[in-house]
Amino acid sequence: MTDYSKYSFWLETAGEDLKPRSPLTRSDDVDVAILGGGYSGLWTAYYLLRENPGLSVAIVEKEIVGFGASGRNGGWCSSKFPVTPAMLEQRFGRNAARALMLAMNASVDEVARVGQEERIDAHFHKGGILSFARGAHQLPLIRAAHAGYERLGLGDQYRLLSAEEATKRVNVTHVHGALYASENASVHPGRLVRGLARAVERRGGVIYEQTEVTDFAGGARPRLLTRAGELRAKKALVLAGEAYLTRLPKLHRALLPVYSLIALTEPLTENQWSQIGWQDRESLASNKYTVDYLTRTAGGRILFGSRGAPYRFASKITDEQDRHAETHARIQHTVVEWFPMLEGIKFTHEWGGPVGMPRDWMPAVAFDPATRIGTARGYTGQGVATTNLAGRILAGLIAQKRTGLEALPFAQRRSPDWEPEPLRWLAVRYAQHAFLRIDSAAENRRPRPKDAKVAQFLGKH
Ligand SMILES: Cc1cc2nc3c(=O)[nH]c(=O)nc-3n(C[C@H](O)[C@H](O)[C@H](O)COP(=O)(O)OP(=O)(O)OC[C@H]3O[C@@H](n4cnc5c(N)ncnc54)[C@H](O)[C@@H]3O)c2cc1C
Repeated sequence: MTDYSKYSFWLETAGEDLKPRSPLTRSDDVDVAILGGGYSGLWTAYYLLRENPGLSVAIVEKEIVGFGASGRNGGWCSSKFPVTPAMLEQRFGRNAARALMLAMNASVDEVARVGQEERIDAHFHKGGILSFARGAHQLPLIRAAHAGYERLGLGDQYRLLSAEEATKRVNVTHVHGALYASENASVHPGRLVRGLARAVERRGGVIYEQTEVTDFAGGARPRLLTRAGELRAKKALVLAGEAYLTRLPKLHRALLPVYSLIALTEPLTENQWSQIGWQDRESLASNKYTVDYLTRTAGGRILFGSRGAPYRFASKITDEQDRHAETHARIQHTVVEWFPMLEGIKFTHEWGGPVGMPRDWMPAVAFDPATRIGTARGYTGQGVATTNLAGRILAGLIAQKRTGLEALPFAQRRSPDWEPEPLRWLAVRYAQHAFLRIDSAAENRRPRPKDAKVAQFLGKH
């Protein structure tokens, strides 16, 4: 039997045994059938059941609830949306961009509110985000981000800090300034996803685990196909499998699985924390292409995450990719580079998982009344709070209840497909290499690679 606690520290410390729920054993009929036991599927089920207690809702999960990114992430429950405010404004206009940012802020609080109402002890702590400019070259990036928020009239929630102000909060090396955002919390992702599943069940939802959906079909009677039988839906089918959706032939090019990897330290001593500060447990980041994200866990450890593990041909997703020696070694090295006082610190856990990257970087939440198929996907590694918003939107669309959220620019849209192989592999591997080269040149004060603009264009969002 699979030991699911090995997939992340969060699953290991979720506070319950991870014994799988029963699988689907025969064909059945429900009102709403959902593929995927992560936040997207669970939030959709939760809001559907809260608004319509008589509805029959079933979730089909290949492994266990929280097996995917929802049980492995960096713990940022953040108002950050996968697309920057400036780009949102450019694509959809000021009003739509502002409305989306405000809805994201509200989603952070909504996660806390439901957590409290449903007695989910997910270590929710609203400490904000500190996005550091590590090196003078990153200063223009945080200033531009701040200007983007100001243009949307949200300047009061985003504050530029001097190097001194920033390092007073958290003693990090090479800091030239920081952008502080108040609307962000850190959570225990495992406790959140597992607690949410129990809340769905208390409201009458049924969760089948150890059941792989092999195909799906839309129409008057949409259905999820499994080896044990089909789950037919009277009202709607929801595809909420994020990166793993690419394993279904019909959705193979809908997203790109990109691995995000994490290393976790042992708990720090009081003395180490007194040297570092970080008293408000802000989520921390720098402004690198390969992404740095840090969380101070409730138990006093440092979680450090980053990208850079190679994309595999044909969007391969395997357990082996959860660990990548080179990337994990770079992460461990970077922890000590940020916090030299931690020289010799032990790392107790390493893991990773795929995030779902849409071709235009924009998540999509949509329901088509003609096929009765709904989906919420493409969070590009920023889905902890976004899935809550997506779940509320999808539940409203399925129940045909206007909430106003369906007007947000990521609702009722779809992203273009990724290119077929080998083009996809060539372009993605080129961009991944280029991002590593750009970061390395900046850190070592070498000139920017000549092709930086090309890579920037490919990674534009
Ligand atoms: C390492 C890492 C760090 C991250 N850090 C952050 C962070 O700090 N903050 C943030 O906001 N976001 C972060 N993210 C992203 C965030 O976790 C995701 O966007 C979010 O969890 C997506 O939830 P989901 O329910 O859509 O997908 P998932 O949680 O991936 O759930 C999908 C589920 O569907 C199941 N499934 C898929 N296909 C099938 C099938 N055919 N049959 C049956 N079941 C199927 C899978 O087994 C899985 O359990 C991170 C992601 C990773 C991997």
